[in-house]
Amino acid sequence: MSKPTPPPANGLPVLQRPELARSFAYVGGAWVAGTENTTVKVTDPATGATLAEVARLNAADSRRAVDAAQDAWAGWAGLLPQERSVILRRWFELMIENREDLARIMTAEQGKPISESRGEIDYAAAFLEFYAEEARRPNIEGVTSHLPDAEVEVWREPVGVAALITPWNFPAAMLTRKAGAALAAGCTVVAHPSSETPCSALALAELGERAGLPAGVFNVVTGDAPEVVGAWMKDARVRAVSFTGSTEIGRLLYAQGADTIKRLVLELGGHAPFLVFGDADMDRAVEEAIKAKFATSGQDCLGANRFFVARDVYETFCTRFAEAAKALTIGPGITDPDIGPLMNERAVAKQEEHIADALSGGARLLCGGKRDDAGPLFFQPTVLADVAPDAKIMNEETFGPVAAIAAFDTEEQAITRANDTEYGLIAYLHTQDPRRIYRASRALQFGMVAVNRTKVTGAPIPFGGMKQSGLGREGSRLGMEAFTEVKYVCRDWA
Ligand code: NAP
Repeated sequence: MSKPTPPPANGLPVLQRPELARSFAYVGGAWVAGTENTTVKVTDPATGATLAEVARLNAADSRRAVDAAQDAWAGWAGLLPQERSVILRRWFELMIENREDLARIMTAEQGKPISESRGEIDYAAAFLEFYAEEARRPNIEGVTSHLPDAEVEVWREPVGVAALITPWNFPAAMLTRKAGAALAAGCTVVAHPSSETPCSALALAELGERAGLPAGVFNVVTGDAPEVVGAWMKDARVRAVSFTGSTEIGRLLYAQGADTIKRLVLELGGHAPFLVFGDADMDRAVEEAIKAKFATSGQDCLGANRFFVARDVYETFCTRFAEAAKALTIGPGITDPDIGPLMNERAVAKQEEHIADALSGGARLLCGGKRDDAGPLFFQPTVLADVAPDAKIMNEETFGPVAAIAAFDTEEQAITRANDTEYGLIAYLHTQDPRRIYRASRALQFGMVAVNRTKVTGAPIPFGGMKQSGLGREGSRLGMEAFTEVKYVCRDWA
C-alpha cells in the first residue's frame, strides 16, 4: 500500500516549506497511494486549475487506517498526559510557524480570501494549544462514597479510535477542533477531509508528524466519502465519530452508527436568524450583518440567512445593508477581496434557485442577483427584501452570499419566526434593551446566541447546535466528552 516517494501536489502555490504540499494519504505514519493507485482531482475554485491529484483510498485501505490507529492506541493512551500535551503544543507552534503556507494552501483549494485563511489558521491552531493544556487536567472525578466500607472513584478513559469527518468550508479548524480534543483525551484518530479540500488536512498531518505524533496516532484518509467513512461506520473498533457537515449526511451517519452503538458528535447546518430591533445601534447592526452574512463568501454554518427587522427601522436597515453589500469587493482569494469564489457549480446554482424562488414570491432585489464577471464560480453579494415566509431561502440553508430580509411588528413575532426552523446553531440579536436581551436570549432555541456582535467562536467556548443542527459540543472541556468513557470503580480493601 505504501510508496516511498509520494509526488508533490504540484499545482499548489509555491510554499516556503514545499513538503507541506502532499498528495498521498497519511496512514500508520507513512504517505500512501492506496491499493488501487487512483486519484481525486483537487481544483482551485477561482480559476478551475488543477491543484493536486490526491490519493483515492478504498474501503480496504480505510480499514487498514483503523488497524494502524487501533495498534497505536495503547501506546498513545499510555503516555503521561504531559507527554501528549507537549506534542500537541509543538503541533500548535508548527502551525503558527507555517501560517503563511497553510493559509496559501487553504486559499488555493477553498477559495477564501487570504486574510480569512490566515484567520482560520490562527483559529485552528488555538484548538491544539487549548487541548494541549486540557490534556494535563485530571481525568479522575471526585465522588463521595455512599458505602461505609468502600472507596469509590470515577475515571474518564479514552474511548479508543475516533473517526473525524470534516467539511470543505473550514478545512483546518474543523479538523483541529476535533483532533485536539480526541488526542488530548488519549484517543487515536482516523480522519476524512472533504474531497474538495484535502490538501489542508494533509499539510496538517505533515506538521503533526514533525511535532512528534507517533505512527498510527493520527491518520488522514483521502478518497470517496461513502467508501472511506462507510468502512469506519461498520467497524466496531471505531468507538466515536465526530462529523461536521450537512444535516443530510449527519442523519445518515447517525443511522449507520446505530449498529455498533457509536458515540456521535454532529455539527450540522445553521440557517441563522439575525434580529434587529428598533432600538439597535444601526451602524453596528449593519456592520455586523455584513460580517454575519458575507464572511467565508457566505459559506459558513454560522452565516446569517434570515434577517428579521423591526418595521420602524426596516427601510433604513434594508437600504444601508444593501449599500454596504454593494461595496464589497469580489475576486480570487489570493488578491484578498471581501468575497471569493463559491466552492462549486452546485453552490452557485443554489444561489440562483433561491433568488428566483424568492422573487417569484414577491421579494424585492436590492442588489446583486447574479454571477459575477470574475469567473463562473463568483456570485455577487445579493440582498432581497420583503421575502415571504414560505420562500426557500427562509427555510433552507443558502450557503452563499445571498441575504433575505423580512419585517416584524412585535418581539414575539420576531422570536417565533427565528425559531421556526429545524435548525438551531446560532442566532444574532441586535438591541440595546437589557431586559429584551435576557428575554430573547432565553427564548431563542439555538446553541449559541450572539448579542450585538458576530464573532463569538474560539477554542474555550462550547460550539454546537440544538434541534437538527447537531448533537454534542466541540471546543471547551465539553469537546472532550464524546472521546471519553466514564468508569466507576468501587474498592473494598477487606
Ligand atoms: P457534506 O456534504 O455533508 O460533507 C461533509 C463531510 O462528509 C465531507 O468530508 C464529505 O466528504 C463527507 N461525506 C459526504 N457524503 C458522505 C457519505 N455518504 N458518508 C459519509 N461521509 C460523507 O457537507 P459540506 O458540503 O462539506 O459542508 C457544508 C455543510 O456543513 C453545511 O450544511 C454547513 O452548515 C455544515 N457545517 C457545519 C458546521 C458546524 O460546526 N455546525 C461547520 C461547518 C460546516 P466529501 O466532500 O469527500 O464528499
